[in-house]
Amino acid sequence: MYMISTNSLVKLDFNNTEIAFRNKSDKDLEKAYWLFKMVASNTLIKIGTPMTNFALKVGLPIQGIIRNTIYKQFCGGESIEGCSQAIAELGQGRVTTILDYSVEGEESEESFDQTCAEILRTVAYAQQNELISFCVFKPTGLGRFDLFAKVDAQQPLTPTEKAEFDRVYERIDRICHACHDAGIKVLIDAEHSWIQDTIDDFARDMMEKYNKEQVIVYNTYQLYRHDKFASLQADFAYAQTQNFYLGAKIVRGAYMEIERERAAEKGYPTPIQPNKAACDKDYDDAIRFCLDHINRIGLMAGTHNEASSQFLADEMTLRGISPANDHIFFAQLLGMSDNLSFNLAEAGYNVAKYMPYGPVKAVMPYLFRRAQENTSVGGQTSRELSLIVKEKKRRKSENKLTAIGYRL
Ligand SMILES: Cc1cc2nc3c(=O)[nH]c(=O)nc-3n(C[C@H](O)[C@H](O)[C@H](O)COP(=O)(O)OP(=O)(O)OC[C@H]3O[C@@H](n4cnc5c(N)ncnc54)[C@H](O)[C@@H]3O)c2cc1C
Repeated sequence: MYMISTNSLVKLDFNNTEIAFRNKSDKDLEKAYWLFKMVASNTLIKIGTPMTNFALKVGLPIQGIIRNTIYKQFCGGESIEGCSQAIAELGQGRVTTILDYSVEGEESEESFDQTCAEILRTVAYAQQNELISFCVFKPTGLGRFDLFAKVDAQQPLTPTEKAEFDRVYERIDRICHACHDAGIKVLIDAEHSWIQDTIDDFARDMMEKYNKEQVIVYNTYQLYRHDKFASLQADFAYAQTQNFYLGAKIVRGAYMEIERERAAEKGYPTPIQPNKAACDKDYDDAIRFCLDHINRIGLMAGTHNEASSQFLADEMTLRGISPANDHIFFAQLLGMSDNLSFNLAEAGYNVAKYMPYGPVKAVMPYLFRRAQENTSVGGQTSRELSLIVKEKKRRKSENKLTAIGYRL
């Protein structure tokens, strides 16, 4: 393999706020500043979450406020068409979109069918719009959580449940099949450990069916789990024997507290790594492993961690892999870590952002999670704030210079 000396590694500039916030007007920047300021307050989020839920429940007219603040920061729009401006804005910075229908909570056959139909609409939309690089679904958007849990625990299903489970399979298959026919890549999100084996089985099956010619289906590997680097290696070994491509979205994992609490409550060993360093090590090892087999693996690095992003870029350089290699994507969530997304894209890497969409009320659970995550993830909010402040200052001094220039 062609190797490049470590001296030629290029340090990416994730502090370039001019590039990071190019698509934000002064007004948008000011709004983002106040939003992250509010989110930084643990107390405010603690009080605000139940108050907002209550206000929405009793029909107080707060949807407009939500739409113009937290919703605008983290969501693309209320429908696919409503996202077109946000998609175009990302596209101007060479960042592609992952349309993420984020309606949560409803657990009826009707709502699962409706979600499936909506995801199929995102596939059709992606076919016409090259700024959409992936489709995505959360398996529990297509089937009942408790049903997944029952299958995972290997409990026998009643005939009715068996039929219900078959319908979940059909929905997942319909989406993956449509993506295969359209040549659109699709991500399967990872969820809680006590339903994840079932999701992994679905994902393996779909990859085996639809990844024969190219990477279409991607499973997600949560490296905060101590067993997931081994799963990734086992899945790759299986993919090799069955001659299909592996799609791997590598993340750290979003449900750490819930996982630990449940394990303690039920008295089983926690699936979570002993500490952050162990999680980071497995994350890096998983990235290296994918790069070592990049001809047969499609890799997405879903992270807001700057060191992890620099690490992936460096490892690509060391292996002589082009930034534009279409088997490698960096990914972030809309409204977060724009400094990573836009600076990576500017440097020629493939970058995609999850763009949640859906009616305001229905995406509130997603928004509360983002708010809580930004409160609890030490450093992330202050990082967002410091970048916004830096950009505000940069614009102010640029404006001053322009004004002086005019007078000269
Ligand atoms: C594009 C994208 C897609 C995603 N998809 C999914 C998904 O499908 N499923 C999912 O679960 N999550 C998903 N996530 C969320 C992701 O798993 C992380 O929760 C989030 O990105 C924070 O991790 P980080 O790598 O960005 O940053 P970091 O700040 O470096 O890491 C924080 C994370 O490290 C881990 N961690 C922190 N402390 C410890 C500790 N003491 N011991 C062990 N681990 C620790 C936790 O996972 C925590 O969330 C996605 C994120 C992105 C950006």
